[in-house]
Amino acid sequence: MRPSLLDPYFAPAASLPGIGPKIGKLLDRLLVDGAGPARIVDLLFHLPYATIDRRNRPKIADAPFDQLVMIEAKVVAHHPPGPRSKAPFKVLVEDETGDVMLVFFLANPHWIEKSLPVGETRWISGKLELWESHRQIVHPDRVLDEEGLTKLPPVEPVYGLTEGLHQRVVGKAIAAALARVPALPEWHRYEATRLPDMPSFTDALKWVHEPQDPADILPNSRARLRLAYDELFAHQLALMLLRASLRERSGRAHGAEGRLGDKIAAALPFALTKAQQEALGEIRKDLGAPARMLRLLQGDVGSGKTVVALLAMAHVVEAGRQAALMAPTELLARQHYESIAGLAEPADVRLALITGRDRASERSATLARLAEGEIDIAIGTHALFQESVQFRDLGLAVVDEQHRFGVHQRLALSEKGDGGADILVMTATPIPRTLVLTYFGDMDVSSLREKPLGRLPIETRALPLDRLDDVIERLGRAVRSGARAYWVCPLVAESEELDVAAAEARFEALRAIFGDTVGLLHGKMKPQEKDAAMAAFARGDTQILVATTVIEVGVDVPEASIIIIEHAERFGLAQLHQLRGRVGRGKAKSSCLLLYRTPLGETAKARIDVMRETEDGFLIAEEDLRLRGEGEVLGTRQSGSPGFHLAELPLHADLLTLARAEAQRVMAENPRLEGEAGRALLLLLYLFERDAAVKLLQAG
Ligand code: ADP
Ligand code: MG
Repeated sequence: MRPSLLDPYFAPAASLPGIGPKIGKLLDRLLVDGAGPARIVDLLFHLPYATIDRRNRPKIADAPFDQLVMIEAKVVAHHPPGPRSKAPFKVLVEDETGDVMLVFFLANPHWIEKSLPVGETRWISGKLELWESHRQIVHPDRVLDEEGLTKLPPVEPVYGLTEGLHQRVVGKAIAAALARVPALPEWHRYEATRLPDMPSFTDALKWVHEPQDPADILPNSRARLRLAYDELFAHQLALMLLRASLRERSGRAHGAEGRLGDKIAAALPFALTKAQQEALGEIRKDLGAPARMLRLLQGDVGSGKTVVALLAMAHVVEAGRQAALMAPTELLARQHYESIAGLAEPADVRLALITGRDRASERSATLARLAEGEIDIAIGTHALFQESVQFRDLGLAVVDEQHRFGVHQRLALSEKGDGGADILVMTATPIPRTLVLTYFGDMDVSSLREKPLGRLPIETRALPLDRLDDVIERLGRAVRSGARAYWVCPLVAESEELDVAAAEARFEALRAIFGDTVGLLHGKMKPQEKDAAMAAFARGDTQILVATTVIEVGVDVPEASIIIIEHAERFGLAQLHQLRGRVGRGKAKSSCLLLYRTPLGETAKARIDVMRETEDGFLIAEEDLRLRGEGEVLGTRQSGSPGFHLAELPLHADLLTLARAEAQRVMAENPRLEGEAGRALLLLLYLFERDAAVKLLQAG
């Protein structure tokens, strides 16, 4: 049981003063993706990604672009949208050096009249951008009068938001959370693995949320290092406990000759590649052996992991057991279900789809069949590891796109098997060898480096954004000849609202040119709307799909042969590679167009060059590591650090070495986490929700 000292950390965020049900809901969405109520710890781990330094107030002409700035300006004019228009409300402000357009989507006109009266001077902060050669700030995060200004701290943290939530509210909630939580005993014991001048865990939280200087929130600040170190250490310790327990407990041999798999393979419209055969051979060998399998299947996008997973599952089914395939999103689970249903048909394998969206009656029927063993393969989202999902005899758990799950979730699924199911983890993000250990601990690895035969190379080009007209014209020609294209919109990581606004604006603009053949897909759409948009594109009813990065993971429409990535300079290399992998999956020659804004920074230029030079995901992963590892401090957090909130890899890769060393010492000296030192470590594991690891410890 979680020590009661931690209770304040895990109390609902909604229990904080000033947080009602409405804000509570928004925090749930922001912090835990709507999966259950957000807790105080989720708030505390929501680190600021930037600061506004109010000591520094540039003149408009001197203010840097694409950064948060604070300007002092006079309100010149209001430009409300016409009646029923979806256009934004614009407000022009100026100082003696220049002007800026403030842009408000879905604005409340009364609020604007009140906050930005014409002729008055206001202090405005937000991200300054250049849009069609005008300065603009979309949704300033502060509009203050003189009095408001004096109330603010000189350095203010800036948090990622979700629609409807404001900086102020998040900031207040975090301040209240900080006031609530008790200090914790030190869990780092070993001098050799201590960081110099390390603040305590709770002090570190305070330092990043109440920065005295913009440098306090940077990844290399003492506070950030401490927090990252704790998270990595908890992760490493959990991995080692897991490994120790796996070693103690033997798995089961799944005896099968491969009849079922052969039947499926024989009916495939293609032959397996050599890489696929080898990987399958390794997996079958593991499955047939009594030791528990813990294997990573790495393969670039489109390398054909799904078939390998299916054949592995077929092996277990032939042995009379069940298999489960878990995907990170609803969309992907559905897609896996559909493609596997097609492939598995000749073998009469009984499939079920289990997601959070099933109707209650259907769901209980499916669960009953699963428990009875009338379903061979269950495919789903994290809904699969809910308590209510019981297997009759789970032999193999396949987890797709593992980097989105934490080690404890993976474990939770495998624990549904009697004595533990075999585990196959698939990742489409090739991970450099140096990091495999980090992400996955001591797993065996199979790699699919070779692409299926007949794949044409993808032609990748880069163009500055001011050539947009040419691009649209060429797109028009391609679409008229039947091509299908993704149009990926700029990533504004700090605000999903702006992501969506950008995608919607691009959608409107393209629809004005191409009409109904343009579709839209973004993360804020209802699941049914998303499905409908995907289905329309897959059928060819729409030929251009404007999308945010929701298409990044696994979406499969083989007919799509063009991908245009707007503001490619804002994406990380791994992400660009993932996105590009959405095309080149069918028979048509595919192309990828990277649209960038000039002037290109050095790292962005290097990334785009790598993209043009190679399609080898493993090579790209190494380059990504190199480019990011060279101290590039990104303004926005890169997605991709697996389940970490505080640590950013590879930025914190050095800490990982330390964390591993410390965890190894613990395992050598106090593997059952006993005594006072052990209690502090248990606290750490619970704090980072490595509960499953603690359970293993207690079971063992
Ligand atoms: P990923 O590794 O990205 O999950 P998929 O398993 O989705 O890749 O495979 C991508 C596409 O390639 C699918 O349409 C699949 O049917 C096809 N495919 C898989 N293996 C082969 C092969 N050996 N030869 C030709 N096509 C293949
Ligand atoms: Mg896949």
